[in-house]
Amino acid sequence: MATAIGTPHPDLMNPIRNLKCCCCGGRYEGRQFHNQDTGWGLGDCCVEYVRPHMDSIEDMERTYGLRGVHYNLDPEHSEQS
Ligand SMILES: [Zn+2]
Repeated sequence: MATAIGTPHPDLMNPIRNLKCCCCGGRYEGRQFHNQDTGWGLGDCCVEYVRPHMDSIEDMERTYGLRGVHYNLDPEHSEQS
């Protein structure tokens, strides 16, 4: 089941890594976002916590990256390379 999101984000080509959540320090699988320190990013664990604190989705995407690209990865797509 493919979810159409328009043009694929270029970061989808990046490898999925074990990253640390910049919010709680927990481990999660995601992709490095250029605005975050290497090895860190917004974890799935804290997406729902952070989102209401952001001004807009655009603001969140600039800071933490995109859902399904950098965090909240779709498990069905994580095996693709
Ligand atoms: Zn977290």
